[in-house]
Amino acid sequence: MRNFIEMDFDTWFETYKPMKNPIDPYASFDGYMFETYGDEVALVKNQDPNRIWMYGDGDDGEGHIWSGWGYINRLGYFITTIPFADDTDVQVNMNDYYYNCENCNTDWEGEAGHRVNDTLGLFYKCPACASDALIAESKYTPV
Ligand SMILES: [Zn+2]
Repeated sequence: MRNFIEMDFDTWFETYKPMKNPIDPYASFDGYMFETYGDEVALVKNQDPNRIWMYGDGDDGEGHIWSGWGYINRLGYFITTIPFADDTDVQVNMNDYYYNCENCNTDWEGEAGHRVNDTLGLFYKCPACASDALIAESKYTPV
């Protein structure tokens, strides 16, 4: 039986301590991310499998970091100095999804963005620009 744990980025960073990318000091995430091609991904593949993490887009439209090697929807990799446990899958939730209202240009982030997208988004409106009647009709509820 495998364990599955979720955490936010800050907790992950403090727990597993990613190492800086020694090839590109200007890498994404303040120099911690590794690219999916060339010398950088080659360096990733050379690491202990329990220190490799993939960064990519989830089915929920948000960015995640997952423990272990992977390549579907990948955007980059991380290498941590602390390995994850053999029997544990870790998912880091970046909560970076946002919905931008085309009507009034308001951004709704994370869970609020999902809710607007699923309700008022169908009418190309958001809680900032929709009438009370439309909010009720769309079944939008605040987070
Ligand atoms: Zn709006």
